[in-house]
Amino acid sequence: MPRLVGVALPVPLFRTFSYEVPEALAGRAVPGARVVVPLRGGREVGIVTAVGAALPEGVTAKGILEAPDAEPALSPALLQLGDWMSAHYAAPPGLVLRSMLPAALTGAARPQPAGRERTLVTIARELPSLTARDAVFKRAPSQRAAYEALEGIGGAALVSHLMERHGVTRATISALAKRGLVRTDQEAVMRDPFAGRAAPATDHVPTGAQAAALDVLTRAAPGDVSLLHGITGSGKTLVYVELLRHVVETRGRTAIVLVPEIALTPQTVDRFRTAFGDRIAVLHSALSDGERLDAWRALRSGERRIAVGARSAIFAPLRDVGAVIVDEEHEASYKQGETPRYHARDVAIARARLEGAVCVLGSATPSLESWHAVEGGRMHRLSLPARAGAGVLPAVEVVDLTRRRARPDDRVAQVLSEPLQAAIAETLDRGEQAILLLNRRGFASFVQCPACGYVATCPNCSISLTAHKGPERLVCHYCQHQEPPRADCPRCGGAVLGQRGLGTQQVERLVGERFPAARLARMDVDTTSGKWAHVHILDRVGRGDVDILLGTQMIAKGLDFPNVTLVGVVDADVGINLPDFRASERCFQLLSQVAGRAGRGAKGGRVLIQTRVPGHHAVRCAMTHDYEAFVAEELPGRENPPYAPVVQLANVIVSGTVELEVRAAADAAAGWLRRLFAARDVGGVAIVGPAPSPVERVKSRWRWHLLLKADDGRTLSRVGRYFVERFVPPAGRELRLVWDRDPVSLL
Ligand code: ADP
Ligand code: ZN
Repeated sequence: MPRLVGVALPVPLFRTFSYEVPEALAGRAVPGARVVVPLRGGREVGIVTAVGAALPEGVTAKGILEAPDAEPALSPALLQLGDWMSAHYAAPPGLVLRSMLPAALTGAARPQPAGRERTLVTIARELPSLTARDAVFKRAPSQRAAYEALEGIGGAALVSHLMERHGVTRATISALAKRGLVRTDQEAVMRDPFAGRAAPATDHVPTGAQAAALDVLTRAAPGDVSLLHGITGSGKTLVYVELLRHVVETRGRTAIVLVPEIALTPQTVDRFRTAFGDRIAVLHSALSDGERLDAWRALRSGERRIAVGARSAIFAPLRDVGAVIVDEEHEASYKQGETPRYHARDVAIARARLEGAVCVLGSATPSLESWHAVEGGRMHRLSLPARAGAGVLPAVEVVDLTRRRARPDDRVAQVLSEPLQAAIAETLDRGEQAILLLNRRGFASFVQCPACGYVATCPNCSISLTAHKGPERLVCHYCQHQEPPRADCPRCGGAVLGQRGLGTQQVERLVGERFPAARLARMDVDTTSGKWAHVHILDRVGRGDVDILLGTQMIAKGLDFPNVTLVGVVDADVGINLPDFRASERCFQLLSQVAGRAGRGAKGGRVLIQTRVPGHHAVRCAMTHDYEAFVAEELPGRENPPYAPVVQLANVIVSGTVELEVRAAADAAAGWLRRLFAARDVGGVAIVGPAPSPVERVKSRWRWHLLLKADDGRTLSRVGRYFVERFVPPAGRELRLVWDRDPVSLL
């Protein structure tokens, strides 16, 4: 009887199984195919990794139960990619292979809850101006809150969603409906707004720089990696589209395009759809398990030849991949936050190598990792140094908040400086649009007692609670804990708690006060929990139905609206002092990206950045649009003490519910590793810590970490695998251990 070796998908161990294959199933149990195996008294899905191997000593083979695939679920290239990921991220192979497959194929899919309410609420009457709104909702604040919540999520939502996520009651919805402000429809199904969308067709002739980049890319050797460094608005998308044409139409191969998040980049996705129509499968997070499986099948069969999607689209089951494109390669969302903790940019490079494809990483603000790789000769650099169409880079002005004093009773002026107010007024007068960025959601970032200094904090996390309006509540941004706001101080009994720090909700209110006639849209996590909320908001901006778009970092990505002529950054300093070695890099990227939204059309544009640290290199270099100057100042800071990209990092995070046990386990892990290095003569790996994580407690779990810094990546991979497999921490309640290779955040 033939034998096979495989991995069971739910098993978090570095262990394979060996089974005998009944004659009848032999043709199907081939490498990459799924098999159903008896395991722990039940049935589990596994993937065959090899056939015909000898049985290991002392192992008796059992028979497999089923071989459901007529064709292997994973191609040879994807199996090899799995090996690479398992080794690099020290992640069990079963979990790695499981992450490559749609949930419907792994036995992990959960049935959709049945019998959920399907009543759709839609805004029936728009109330664009603040004055009209004040009149309509004079004595009905809860109706206003519900109406604004609905508006914020794009104007349509299921009743259940409004009730569960926004605390709206059924009575309020009925009242709004009775007044003709909203409409309700039974059993309505929300249409997939991505289906059938397309951008207006363009027939741009590539600029000289675009043509030069394409020339290199179409002649690149298999596995070559290129960093396409193109300033905002330089026309990177056209380069991607023409490269895809070459690979898919001329060469007859297939391709993968990664974007940070589909919902935030509908314009980019629309351009691909315009160019390639039905040959594209868009893998977005709102697909149901069934729809995802359909898309997966269409890609595997070759019916669709281009996969466009976020992080996990890198595992698209395409054969003969000729190009792998990673747009906005610097985005932190490419890193997966659970095992396997892969970075899709690095997996893209590995997959391109295994497939013999060209790999393109595009960004206006490349990660220092990629820049370092260019300097080390591991990537080519292609550059698009000028805007492609009619636009020119906008002038960036800094408003130094330390030199301005607003009257203490003028809250608007404290938040929006005079120059920013004037710029907004001028923009509105000309009938143009403005974008305002504040990378902090909620109303006030914390509440504090002015008498004793008490700050309301989360009972589960070591972080202060953020004040939110509509309904009024205090919210933890780490664990979603919510509580009603307090009137008095629980510590000293003081009568009033002050609200400190600024959030998008407050800016929305102040902008509304100052510019009551302006049509304002807010885009942040709180207004985009509905399925298609992002797309609805961005479509309204594109149609000219919004004068001012206000939001968090969500609004900084990829948007291309020619009528946006002003970008205002309300507070550039949010995040600049976080205790993370990438804080400056992230700040520079965010400022540069949001500045890049202005002046994309013939009308030009202007950017105002409010800051208290105008001399900080992240602010200074964003002001002059000078990426290379930023790198020149930032990179030396990564050398001593060394951080990525100068060394390779792995962050070991220990967490649990008892602080002393967590600390003991972190100490034990560090001791174990130090002894391993001494015993095995492992050199070139330094251990920093253990120390409490900057955010010490999250969701009632204490967190300690130690950081490993290695000169050589392969050594770090070997150490990781050994550690994850062998290290047994001392006993502790709910103790958990995470090996995070190439971490994007140390918080
Ligand atoms: P990026 O992604 O690099 O920020 P986009 O791909 O969004 O830039 O392109 C910016 C704008 O320039 C788009 O409106 C696009 O249609 C336009 N554009 C791109 N290439 C050309 C070209 N060769 N000629 C004219 N306009 C172009
Ligand atoms: Zn919390």
